[in-house]
Amino acid sequence: MNEQRDRPQWRLETSLVHAGERAAAPQAVPTTTPIYTTSTYLYPTLAELDAAFASGSGYLYVRYGNPTVAALENAIAAIEGARGAVAYASGMAALHAALLAAATPRGETAPQPRAILAARDLYGATTVLLEEMFVARGAVVAYADMCDLDAVEAALADLRPEVVLVEQLSNPLLRVVDVAGLAARCRAVGARLVVDNTIATPVLQRPLSLGADIVVHSATKYLSGHGDTLGGVAAARTALLHDTLARQARLLGASPGPFEAQQALRGLKTLALRFERQCASAARIATFLAAHPAVVRVYYPGLAEHPQHALAATAFGGRFGGLVSFELAGDTVALHRFVDGLRLFLPATTLGDIYSLVSVPALASHRELGAERRAERGISETLVRLSIGIEAVEDLIADLEAALDLR
Ligand SMILES: *Cc1c(COP(=O)(O)O)cnc(C)c1O
Repeated sequence: MNEQRDRPQWRLETSLVHAGERAAAPQAVPTTTPIYTTSTYLYPTLAELDAAFASGSGYLYVRYGNPTVAALENAIAAIEGARGAVAYASGMAALHAALLAAATPRGETAPQPRAILAARDLYGATTVLLEEMFVARGAVVAYADMCDLDAVEAALADLRPEVVLVEQLSNPLLRVVDVAGLAARCRAVGARLVVDNTIATPVLQRPLSLGADIVVHSATKYLSGHGDTLGGVAAARTALLHDTLARQARLLGASPGPFEAQQALRGLKTLALRFERQCASAARIATFLAAHPAVVRVYYPGLAEHPQHALAATAFGGRFGGLVSFELAGDTVALHRFVDGLRLFLPATTLGDIYSLVSVPALASHRELGAERRAERGISETLVRLSIGIEAVEDLIADLEAALDLR
């Protein structure tokens, strides 16, 4: 459309701005989605632009849609079995959006839910989000033990929430929830079930297939997997919920840039390979730690003593995730000596990377909760969370063994 305008009778200043741009898209299809760094799209005539606006499809402006971001959204929708997915700049943005959308299931514009029932053990920032963005604005948030379906049923009857929020494989204690059981109870009272599937990943479970309404991921973690980006996604079971998420995203504007979307899309391609290795190594490390005298208790759903081991064994197809948490014997002096003594595990505040990571929830992910609420949730000051990477498991065990000896 711009060949006319590209004819170079222009002065240098004009050519510097326009020369070389707006070549027609190649006829051949690229194998991998390119990073589209354009903020807008051109249509040959004003009538076609008008038609694109009217139809609501077609690319117009980057906050409304970008081909790289759309490729990520389509991939997530396919992987999670969703009617549609929306990508966000971070996992927190995806969670915030999911909570708002789940409270307005008929697409109305209610500003926020009246009541939310949330799992007692959530990612630390998620609890703070509920309190500072929802409770502070008049919503009621109650917490329940989501592993106890009778308690959930009673809380649902009592609170009548629009939204129920739970993590599959809770952070950091790795508790396992019965998503189908929760979904049935939510449906009975008209509540929408939002599952943060960041830690289980779609390799272990696809919550929408079990009746959840929205599944959320921090794409910063396993989906991207290389510790080099920030992103989030929310995928919806129904077209209506997807539409609500998409409309809301245009207004709230927490969309990812095309570079970040491409990193997440690229990460997805090796998710199953990485995660299989991470699960296998985590299982061996959990067994090693459980037998070590310097370890008081190991939290890993693959161990027979884990309270939801049987549920996890049937729900996850024989794998149990890539995180292992444990209580170290001794005090915080021993804790510091252990963590500082690790050479291979990186003391980084994230999870799901190809690198093996160690974190102390009381100092990092659950710091903002405060000591009292951590204690209520069973998160002690010497709880250690390992995120297992893709290194050789023998090297990882040797690193743990050496650091435990220092303690
Ligand atoms: C990291 C994380 C989040 C937040 O995601 P960001 O991408 O950091 O915004 C939410 N839920 C869980 C379970 C997480 O691990």
